[in-house]
Amino acid sequence: MSLFVMPVAGLPWPVPFEHSFAERLPGCYQPWQPAPVPAPRLVLFNRALAEQLGLGDVATPLLAEFLSGRQLPPGARPIALAYAGHQFGHFNPQLGDGRALLLGEIRDTSGRLWDLHLKGSGATPFARGGDGKAALGPMLREYLMGEAMTALGIPSTRALAVVATGEAVQRERPLPGAVLSRVASSHIRVGTFQFLAIRDDLAKLRDLADYTIQRHYPQLRAEANPYLALLRRVLEGQAELIARWQAVGFIHGVMNTDNMSIAAETIDYGPCAFMDRYDPATVFSSIDHGGRYAYGEQPRIAQWNLVRLAECLVPLVDDTDEEHAIALLTEELNRFPDVFARHWQRIFAAKLGLRPSSAGVDEVTVSLIHRFLELLQKEAEDFTLAFRRLASHLRGTDERDLGLEPIPATWDPWLQDWQRHIDATGEDRRRVAARMDACNPIYIPRNHLVEEALAAAQFAGDLGLLQALLARLEDPYTARADSIRYSQPMPTDWGPYRTFCGT
Ligand code: AMP
Ligand code: MG
Repeated sequence: MSLFVMPVAGLPWPVPFEHSFAERLPGCYQPWQPAPVPAPRLVLFNRALAEQLGLGDVATPLLAEFLSGRQLPPGARPIALAYAGHQFGHFNPQLGDGRALLLGEIRDTSGRLWDLHLKGSGATPFARGGDGKAALGPMLREYLMGEAMTALGIPSTRALAVVATGEAVQRERPLPGAVLSRVASSHIRVGTFQFLAIRDDLAKLRDLADYTIQRHYPQLRAEANPYLALLRRVLEGQAELIARWQAVGFIHGVMNTDNMSIAAETIDYGPCAFMDRYDPATVFSSIDHGGRYAYGEQPRIAQWNLVRLAECLVPLVDDTDEEHAIALLTEELNRFPDVFARHWQRIFAAKLGLRPSSAGVDEVTVSLIHRFLELLQKEAEDFTLAFRRLASHLRGTDERDLGLEPIPATWDPWLQDWQRHIDATGEDRRRVAARMDACNPIYIPRNHLVEEALAAAQFAGDLGLLQALLARLEDPYTARADSIRYSQPMPTDWGPYRTFCGT
């Protein structure tokens, strides 16, 4: 359970900060102080994450001070990170943390380094006219989504806390303000590379690449061309990440290059949402008019973003022969469709209870996956529940009490082919079904449940619904007898669903 109230007595901030980014990469940030907030109050605190970071013993009132930026924790050296980025395909050479600050890095109990970052902590030199603030609803949303993704086994930034600031932020109407504290493997983005590349600062670009390699991919230092290898590793990480998004129906909504992490974790939860009925054209974001970031476009956009990263790396890969560098990088980029397909096929085969052989996923399985998705699209079926219904069917039990409707006769031709393929493996059907349930969530952040929980938390100060939802999302594969409302698709009279960037 994520919500908890700490004992008032406690130790001061128990872990030292490190500042490797600030020390190694001058020019990539500006030192800046958080804006004071009137009345910080801890709304959500992520105890599991705090313990992992060795922060378990900080007292509540101090936490609200530290994680709102009203008081800096000892050793923090806040900086606003600079980056550029392609937003909906248009390049902006100067974005950066307009309303966020990196306090420093924390080494966790197993020696891994994490960024601790405040979002909504006031306007920075990169604010471009924005107020630097964040509203409580969207920050709770980021907390919820990050926890859901983590529990689904998908690499993600996570929220350590949401602190209400006690001040109103002006959006279309005044909303309660909040600061989110975010923990990430780092905040190095494709846009961080673009920021230096567009300025032709080769020395700093090399420093950034070297720092990135040292921090995230230290084994690459031994490669003949570590910068080429860096592209390869980021490509592999992103291909797998996007395949995992596809497998749960996650739609990021703003896959701009400044929202793509070099550490290949999901970052910057804005207008993201989970697809309900299966349709590759699904878009929820109110600003994504052209469907650039639709569900089905995500792999292609990831590759597009990687091309932008590769462009930055050209002078590092070969500083004497540009054509040679481009040829090498292009060869890597061209691997993306295959690398992505390999992950996608493996993950979707597992969702259907099918195991790859040593040679990979066989053609029959690939065809079964595609035919199944076509069926779901044609029948406008709920993507998440479809896989649980298959497992239920395989078990031969009636699980309507869990919200799993029997499979309609229209699926029969596909169903027979699928079952024949499963039975050919000789594995017991019930065991296959159990394996399927272990990789197909029954609980995802359903759009209507998320909105309902956020509205109660934001406007009625009632965290009960959010807590209950979080509890299901933290254990998304285990069906609970009392939880049918958490697995059901949105009511037909609810929607169409739109998400907003104006956070
Ligand atoms: P995002 O959509 O959250 O990834 O933000 C895109 C860019 O806009 C980043 O540079 C943010 O720092 C900046 N930004 C978003 N909202 C605000 C705000 N309220 N004040 C200042 N900058 C903002
Ligand atoms: Mg962003």
